[in-house]
Parts: sequence; C-alpha cells; structure tokens
Amino acid sequence: MQITHKDFYRFLDKIDFVPTPGGGGCWNWTGSLDCWGYGRFWLDGKHHGAHRVAFATYKGEIPDGMFVRHSCDNPRCCSPAHLALGTHQDNMNDMKSRSRQASVLDESKAANAKRLFLSRSDFGIVRAAARALGIDRKTVRDIRDGKRWKHVAPADPGSHSYLCFEAAALASRRSRRSS
Ligand SMILES: [Zn+2]
Repeated sequence: MQITHKDFYRFLDKIDFVPTPGGGGCWNWTGSLDCWGYGRFWLDGKHHGAHRVAFATYKGEIPDGMFVRHSCDNPRCCSPAHLALGTHQDNMNDMKSRSRQASVLDESKAANAKRLFLSRSDFGIVRAAARALGIDRKTVRDIRDGKRWKHVAPADPGSHSYLCFEAAALASRRSRRSS
C-alpha cells in the first residue's frame, strides 16, 4: 500500500479525533463504512479498510494473510494505538463477540427482516435471517407473521442497512451449506 502525502492528508481529513484527558481516544472514521462497520478509504482505484491504511501508515506493512484488529472494539477507529495485527481466527473471534453484543432486536432490524420476507420466501430464509440478526428463529417467524413489531414498516430495499443485512443473511446460508 503506497500512500502519498496528498492521500495522507485526504485520509486525516476524514478522521474525527475524540479528545480525552491525557489522549488515547479513538480516531473515528467519518467517511463511508462497509457492511461490518469498518471505514472505507479509496486508494489506487479500490476501497481499503481505513484502519488498515492507518496501520500501514503508522506501524508498517501488513503481512499477507494477517488482519488488523481493534483493542478498543470500535471498527470505525483508526488510532494506531488501538490497532494490532492478528490472525484470521482472532478476527473471526472479534466479529463473533461483536455480533453477540449487537444481538438486541430494534426497530431497524425488524424493518430489515420484514423487507427480506417480502422479497424472499425460499427454504432456510428464516434461519438465515435469525443468524444475520443474532436472534432466535421464533422471534423472526413472529416478525414475519406480524405477531411482533407490527407497527414497523418494511425497510427501504435500497438502503445501506438493508443491503448489508441481506448480504449477511445470504452469506450465512452459503457458509452453512458448505460446512
Ligand atoms: Zn479506538
């Protein structure tokens, strides 16, 4: 990853430094995010993880196959002090613990589930939605059947939040099939 001065200033421009007494706060990315909540930085014709750009700039090359992890558990953060190298397994564990924390059903998740059931009714879709939302299948069926979250309208099919949810649901189905 080659970063010119110009790119570096463009990068810094997207960072919101959180002032904390004594320093050490997160450097939050204010640009676009990917489906997993990581910042995206456009460089050399493609998107790079903003935290990976930060790591490569401040701490050095990222060896092939290694991941950049957050000690602060904040995927938007680009503070080099909060970034460390990890293996694929470390990264999977981080994502699992993050999705466990996020597994509280709220209005936007219910809206996404409703939209999914409007466009898809294929076999296994309830299980896929439950996995993507981190909630149990009974709750998901209740949303589909209008027993819960009745007042919530289906999500906009073109919204970032819905597209990320749909991608996660379909990906969880693929990984299930191949395992
Ligand atoms: Zn941080």
